[in-house]
Amino acid sequence: MPDLTEKDIRSLEQRLLGRREALRGIIHDALIETRREEYIGLAGQVHDSGDESIADMLLGIDLSQRERELTEMQDVEAALERIQGDVYGICTDCGDPIDRARIEVYPTAKRCIRCQTRHEAERRGGKDYTPSL
Ligand SMILES: [Zn+2]
Repeated sequence: MPDLTEKDIRSLEQRLLGRREALRGIIHDALIETRREEYIGLAGQVHDSGDESIADMLLGIDLSQRERELTEMQDVEAALERIQGDVYGICTDCGDPIDRARIEVYPTAKRCIRCQTRHEAERRGGKDYTPSL
């Protein structure tokens, strides 16, 4: 049984919906900005090649930021789906209720703190996990 009341879930749902809207706006603006930069990049390429490394560096930072936003968007969507499916607040790994304080701070949490800690340790120890920058 999740430790959350119907009212808690509704208020968390509102927060998630608000966050989804904000992320949509950010991602939308970023796409437009990226297209604009690509255009400027192409136009400036001929006489501005000296700045290439800086541009690459900025693009790298930008992409990891975009990636975080997209990942968060997926997490938010998944949390909203769990609310729809009536399994919100329940750990997807062990089926125990997720600590209420954790959900309040981190409404997209899908694992209890115990499973999340184990999951992250496994990822860090895994061969395919290479920290980016
Ligand atoms: Zn768990």
